[in-house]
Amino acid sequence: MSKKYNPYQSMLNVLDKAAEKLGLTYDDYVCLRSPERELTVSVPVVMDDGHTEVFTGYRIQHSSSRGPCKGGIRYHHDVDLDEVKALAAWMTWKCAVVNIPYGGAKGAIKCDPTTMSEGELKRLTRRYTAMILPILGPEKDIPAPDVNTNAQVMAWIMDTYSMFKGYAVPGVVTGKPLEIGGSLGRAEATGRGVMFTVLNLVEKMGLDKSKLRIAVQGFGKVGSVSAKLLNEEGFKIIAISDVSCGLYNEKGIDINKAKEYADNNKNLLKGYHEEGMKEITNEELLTLDVDILIPAALQNQITVDIAKKTQAKIIVEAANGPTTSDADEILEKRNIPTVPDILANTGGVVVSYFEWVQNAQFFMWDEKYINISLNKIMKKAFDEVWQVHLDKKVTLRMAAYIVALDRVASAKKIRGIFP
Ligand code: NAD
Repeated sequence: MSKKYNPYQSMLNVLDKAAEKLGLTYDDYVCLRSPERELTVSVPVVMDDGHTEVFTGYRIQHSSSRGPCKGGIRYHHDVDLDEVKALAAWMTWKCAVVNIPYGGAKGAIKCDPTTMSEGELKRLTRRYTAMILPILGPEKDIPAPDVNTNAQVMAWIMDTYSMFKGYAVPGVVTGKPLEIGGSLGRAEATGRGVMFTVLNLVEKMGLDKSKLRIAVQGFGKVGSVSAKLLNEEGFKIIAISDVSCGLYNEKGIDINKAKEYADNNKNLLKGYHEEGMKEITNEELLTLDVDILIPAALQNQITVDIAKKTQAKIIVEAANGPTTSDADEILEKRNIPTVPDILANTGGVVVSYFEWVQNAQFFMWDEKYINISLNKIMKKAFDEVWQVHLDKKVTLRMAAYIVALDRVASAKKIRGIFP
């Protein structure tokens, strides 16, 4: 589904329009149209059966104008350079929207982790870390988990980096296990941020949350937590899906039971059943008659075809780049409010920032303080974007880009171009 579109080109289309709305000249933002640094590495791994396989890895640093580069690492068989470049740029805009002192980066390895043993994944991660090590560091570039990576992968990166340095460097990654400097609240942070975003939107639009039905595509670290927390807030989750299947129950799905099932079934929903539930396809989920659709899987899921057909009243983008730019134009024409990824899924990077600050302070904050601080930052960002949306009569995506680009272009201008 994804390869027809170039997500980096989609990002540039929106960026150029935001620059025009801000009245920026081409010189004011031309540096932000390409990443500062692109590193492609070959990662040889001795597989369990003794043969050697060479994987391709990437680390892209889009911008360091506002601080160290920050962004996750993805393991996926379908990943390519343009996808990672887009993801790195989106990190720059995200950090600027929530006004935390980071630039943007992203990394990836083209591999199918579902077919690899733990030992193979560990060797892959350690060798990849060694290959990109010169550009990593708590003051330079700080990875975090993304699709198919987790706290354990972050622990291997932290250990590999620390072995090269000769001392423990917890601040080189975020999303680590608590035992080695991870933060309370980080594992749930992106989903919690999605929940805060939905609450902020519902408040602005004057909607009654007890009447709203939600569909969530993707049931991983982000989708499952978003569904669970929104359910706890009183929303009815009527459809969920993952790579294995989609599930629909108009009476509302028991998210805790579905999660427990997936946890014991290699993270897959296939085979889960409740009374009144029927299996649907991912496309059916995206076009269901729901109040809020939350794409929380991969990029390029809401295509032109889906945008024309969807019956969702509101879209909240938990995944990165789930809507193609041509599909976005259709959503705008159809007046379907869409909270963009660079605002809706910032919870993860905000709590990553808290983790990095705690590592620098050698101090641990309690979870209540973390969640309250996350809410405060996300509410402020939402209010700022909403105001631009009203003042300039632009979509929420354009408003978020305007807020972000204004901050990054100003930082760039104040610093000037070296030498
Ligand atoms: P994950 O690997 O934990 O989960 C991904 C989920 O998507 C899985 O349930 C998988 O089965 C499902 N999926 C994959 N392909 C699919 C398909 N074709 N159709 C339907 N479902 C499919 O990853 P995650 O960390 O939850 O990330 C999900 C999205 O959120 C990604 O776009 C990621 O970049 C973005 N994101 C993640 C974080 C984070 O903190 N993890 C932060 C911000 C944004």
